[in-house]
Amino acid sequence: MTIIIEKFKVCSVCRGLRDTEADYNRDNRAGDGRRSQCRVCDAAYGRAYRNDPDNCDAIRFRRRVYYQDNRDYEAALGKAWREDNRDYDLARKKAWREDNREYALAYAKAYREDKSRKASKKRTQT
Ligand SMILES: [Zn+2]
Repeated sequence: MTIIIEKFKVCSVCRGLRDTEADYNRDNRAGDGRRSQCRVCDAAYGRAYRNDPDNCDAIRFRRRVYYQDNRDYEAALGKAWREDNRDYDLARKKAWREDNREYALAYAKAYREDKSRKASKKRTQT
């Protein structure tokens, strides 16, 4: 059996005639190996799904599960990104601290108290 792959095909969503290889994402289940909607329609669909408040919890849950399963890899990725984008990262963190001043101060205070509590605990143990 030979599958004839047409050079162009019509998108099932926007009905535009587009290049089968360049304008359609791969899909191993499809007869011609490409999705039936073009990349532009695929992206719009994904964007609409991600922006729908009903899907927020499901997306967050999947991300959390993925992060837990790939913790070391994700941590290394984040560290590498922060090193590559050091100035941007520091500016972003500074802006966040300014926007959330009270929370940041309370958090820093709690952190210091926890640290000194742990240190004094260590001292009494030795
Ligand atoms: Zn389309």
